[in-house]
Amino acid sequence: MRYPAITVDLDKLTANAALLVKLCQASGLSVMGVSKAFCAAPKLAQALLDGGISWLGDSRIQNLSKLRAAGCKAPLCLLRLPMLSEVDEVVRVAQMSQVSELATAKALSDAAQSLGQRHKITLMVDLGDLREGVWPHNILPVANAISRLPGIELYGLGANFACYGGLIPSWEKLSELLDLANAIRHATGLPLPLVSGGNSANLHLLPNGIPPGITQLRLGESILLGRETIARQAIAGAHLDVFALHVEIIELQEKPSVPVGNIGQDAFGETPVFQDKGLIKRAIVAIGRQDINVDGLEVQEPGIQIIGASSDHLILDVTHAERALNIGSILSFGLRYSALILGMMSPYVAKELQIKAPPS
Ligand SMILES: *Cc1c(COP(=O)(O)O)cnc(C)c1O
Repeated sequence: MRYPAITVDLDKLTANAALLVKLCQASGLSVMGVSKAFCAAPKLAQALLDGGISWLGDSRIQNLSKLRAAGCKAPLCLLRLPMLSEVDEVVRVAQMSQVSELATAKALSDAAQSLGQRHKITLMVDLGDLREGVWPHNILPVANAISRLPGIELYGLGANFACYGGLIPSWEKLSELLDLANAIRHATGLPLPLVSGGNSANLHLLPNGIPPGITQLRLGESILLGRETIARQAIAGAHLDVFALHVEIIELQEKPSVPVGNIGQDAFGETPVFQDKGLIKRAIVAIGRQDINVDGLEVQEPGIQIIGASSDHLILDVTHAERALNIGSILSFGLRYSALILGMMSPYVAKELQIKAPPS
């Protein structure tokens, strides 16, 4: 195996997808699987589909195009508001996109018409998180105008929470979303079958119920890492270790815990502060900030502590490590979302897909 490497357990990934599909089904929700965190690697996307997910969503059109090129048959949704410069590719590759601007809807309509198609739109409403979405008091005129575009099927109303503003989705906020959906149905006469209520941050609501009429959640992190995303609580029964990072020790020496000499700025323009623990046993492993977000790594072994990182090196205090370490030893870490997204994207981090041998 080449290091550093992220291993992906595809069976556990499928099991997490199936668990969330089941949990959501119990509340009347379907699941759109969100593939951006793993750059829509086709085998991982297939693992989500194997878990019973129907739609796939991604914020980058390149990722959706990659899925199509790999032969993925699932319906695809572009999650980030389309750029005008990409609408031709969007209507060719995706069945649906999330939109908050009439100008964009018009451009999508023109592009779809020139292919002789109709493109589905989920109109996004901003319920206070202050990222994308039409402000609620403008939603009816925008929905009306979109409903008249010949190349567009106004298919859903959607909201997003806990991204920019950290707004926690609640029963009240989702009821507001349902009221707006009903107002749009009334004004346009359209069925508006999709009411997309949010992302992994909505899962904390499920135990106490979610207003009936919300039809879908768009889930990424919770499927991949097995946690809801308001308090990062583990989801009962989910695998928390679908992904793991494995790195190799390239230096192992006893050194002081405080630099020797005058301290100026480090490689990233910050002035580091050190705790004097005397002589410590330090391991350098071959991964750094250019490869991954080191703040998103979770140490798995007791007695090992991350003490710093530069572009290419991660430095660990292994003084109290429980096993004997050597040059060439492999250390494994868990990944939080911030580390997962950069690690999956880095060409310097190998990806090893693990799958159990099929029963013979
Ligand atoms: C990324 C994204 C999601 C998925 O969010 P998770 O927290 O990973 O579940 C859902 N909706 C939109 C619009 C997104 O961009």
